[in-house]
Amino acid sequence: MDFFLSHETYTWILRGAFVYAGLILVGALFYRAPYGRFGDAAGGIGLPPRVGWFLMELPATVSFVVFFLAGRNSAEAVPLFFLGVWLVHYGNRGFVFPLLMRVQRGARASFGWLVIGAGWLVTTLHGYLNAVWVSEISDQYSTDWFTDPRFLVGMAVYVCGFVGNLHSDHIIRTLRTRREIANGDKVYRIPRGGLFRWVTSPSYLTEIVSFVGLAIAMWSPAACFVLLVTVANLVPRAFQTHAWYRERFGDEYPPERRALVPGLL
Ligand code: NDP
Repeated sequence: MDFFLSHETYTWILRGAFVYAGLILVGALFYRAPYGRFGDAAGGIGLPPRVGWFLMELPATVSFVVFFLAGRNSAEAVPLFFLGVWLVHYGNRGFVFPLLMRVQRGARASFGWLVIGAGWLVTTLHGYLNAVWVSEISDQYSTDWFTDPRFLVGMAVYVCGFVGNLHSDHIIRTLRTRREIANGDKVYRIPRGGLFRWVTSPSYLTEIVSFVGLAIAMWSPAACFVLLVTVANLVPRAFQTHAWYRERFGDEYPPERRALVPGLL
């Protein structure tokens, strides 16, 4: 464990992580992650969608907790606060979100091997880099950090993003009726209301806003890495999703709706 907590190892892994994030960004411009509406039956494993989501997100929680507890500052107030934020965020994404998903009985979702491999590597790095930063490497998190403007502004932005994300995920989740789910009908509808009034992918927008907030509140390179990977994953996918809706629904799709940023993009 000491090896992973040392400054030298951390710095090298951080550098490698940023290179990897750059590769994800370039790759995402040319390659569409094959899950959900863009799922590809070939070249992956078929898993119940809830299990797939749970397994994909699990390393973020496990690696954060394991490395956090090993750090010298793991009993300090600010690191513990960030542990709480992490557990809430990934508790939602890895446990609550899959549990609430409306999934047709017996449905199997295809998770491409590349998605699984890249996902596990990224979520493990997320957990490691952020946990070791807050509980071992950084000396900036005395209790004064709770009143630092970066913390206050960042957490306000984070909470807005997180709440908007919960609401947008809720709208998407309730587009299929329970009867359609029971019948196994994979129906797609135009989402309306909330932030969907302005953009096609508000859950992606708000996820990005959450991580912008966290990067400000933590003021760390590790949080910037998470933000960069999130942007790399979600910005191209937002444009692909927007094009998919326009093609599928044609004139019925609200023409004023943008892909990701209200009024702009
Ligand atoms: P989607 O919104 O595409 O899918 C969520 C669920 O809603 C799926 O069960 C999907 O069914 C269903 N659904 C989607 N659109 C419709 C529709 N028009 N009509 C009926 N049902 C629909 O989102 P993602 O799966 O891509 O993302 C879910 C959450 O995870 C988001 O909040 C996102 O921000 C977050 N996320 C974060 C990432 C990160 O890097 N931080 C990466 C990826 C996701 P089906 O599967 O059948 O299409």
